Amino acid sequence: MPRLLAWYAENERDLPWRRTYEPYHIWISEIMLQQTQMDRVVDYFSRFIRRFPDIANLAAAQEDELLKLWEGLGYYSRARNLHKTAKILTAQGAQLPESYQQLLQLPGIGPYTASAIMAIAFNRPYTVLDANVERFFARLLDLSTPVKEKETIALIRNQVEGLLPTDQPRAFNQALMEFGALVCKPGIPNCGSCPFQDGCRALRAGTVGDRPVLPKRKETILINMACGLVRRNGKFLIQKRQADDVWANLWEFPGGRLKEGESPEQAVVREYLEETELAVMPVGKIATVKHSYMNYRVTLHGFFCDLLPDQGEPILHAAQEARWVKMEELAHYAFPSGHRKLIGYLQEREQS
Ligand code: SF4
Repeated sequence: MPRLLAWYAENERDLPWRRTYEPYHIWISEIMLQQTQMDRVVDYFSRFIRRFPDIANLAAAQEDELLKLWEGLGYYSRARNLHKTAKILTAQGAQLPESYQQLLQLPGIGPYTASAIMAIAFNRPYTVLDANVERFFARLLDLSTPVKEKETIALIRNQVEGLLPTDQPRAFNQALMEFGALVCKPGIPNCGSCPFQDGCRALRAGTVGDRPVLPKRKETILINMACGLVRRNGKFLIQKRQADDVWANLWEFPGGRLKEGESPEQAVVREYLEETELAVMPVGKIATVKHSYMNYRVTLHGFFCDLLPDQGEPILHAAQEARWVKMEELAHYAFPSGHRKLIGYLQEREQS
């Protein structure tokens, strides 16, 4: 594919992990790029590498600090798996193995990531099929079957493997992904500047807008939640979620989902009793914030709450630890995105 490689030589984006192709950097970037847009990853990656410059440093990290650095990227199991893998690798010499099979044995590394590390970090002849490559080939070949179906992926993989130059797997794979991201992009591709117009079957058939055929979107699930910010002696109560929970090991203000027919205020009172055995009374709304993860759309109602008289320390039923922390200390803890937004409102109020 000399045309593709020539295009890549002209258009390759300057990304921090492309400056060295250090396997550790490629591994971290690949994990961050799962579920996250490239633009956002660049900043997170640079901060991450400044703080944890190698595998041994990452292995020695405190999980709270790691999660704080990851805050906002979501899918926190990725960070926890990086940590686990760094510890395993540090015990074995602090290097990523140059072996697809050995990479697959490590937490958080599946076939896609193992192929990406083999091709991009070690320049070994593996193919990396991300959504950009799938889209490009679905259009080039005018594939009318859903792009995520096993047979469609096998067909595309077969094509890509047939084109893979064994002496340049790193450049080839990156060129394909880059081309899909920048030219044969989602929505309306830049067919006018595409060097593959003459061979593009979808362009010839007038079906570019219908390719790739995507799977049906998962039904959106709406969730209503409420949480309460209780302040005692100038400090807020926060609790650390259980290790096996969604948002495991992140901190939060106690609260939870609304039951049917329940108001957000009633939910806060009930959740506080259930989770901490503390009796509280909502005294003012902070804000209602919305955020999304996977196919969930969460509405979170945040309230200031007063403790009723004669309340002791929290007795935890849904968390592993609780702390009373000052406003300025909240920035040191990793919170799920809805709670982080509430903290933003809180800070604005305190400053105004
Ligand atoms: S002509 Fe358009 S649809 Fe076809 S490969 Fe090029 S950019 Fe993609």
